[in-house]
Amino acid sequence: MLFRDINPVLADPAAFRVLTDALASGVAPGTEVLVAVEARGFLLGAAMAYAMGLGLVCVRKPGKLPAVEHRVDYALEYGTATLELPATVVRAGQRVAIVDDVLATGGTVTATKQLVEHCGARVTGVHVVFEIAALAARDRLGVPVHALLTD
Ligand code: 5GP
Repeated sequence: MLFRDINPVLADPAAFRVLTDALASGVAPGTEVLVAVEARGFLLGAAMAYAMGLGLVCVRKPGKLPAVEHRVDYALEYGTATLELPATVVRAGQRVAIVDDVLATGGTVTATKQLVEHCGARVTGVHVVFEIAALAARDRLGVPVHALLTD
């Protein structure tokens, strides 16, 4: 099984900066906050948020947050997973961009989008390093997908 690994890029300061700037350049004007998915999305989203002067919201796996706004269960290839949105950090009407390392089936991003939309906020785009195009997640998401690499 091929695992797409961003660790070598994170470990290289010049490459990490190029990666961060490339991801940030795709974010729609007017986006107010980045929503990053645990765990690798946090690394990319935090760097982007700092570079862009935006806020960061961390969507977490279950049992990590002191106060949960909303929770979504979703299907994986084998079994299910859950993501949770922290309380009070996403407001109605906000424009948010979702950040993660890999877009595969789209289940993770779809769950994250549902969390955001539950608060009345709107997703301006999905920003990933890798997209597995054969799984065609972008056709189902209904928001623009910006992928730096597609295979
Ligand atoms: P999806 O929900 O789109 O099927 O899978 C995407 C999620 O699984 C992302 O949060 C991502 O971190 C993880 N993932 C799936 N495939 C890979 C992979 O090849 N490499 C890495 N680093 N993460 C993956």
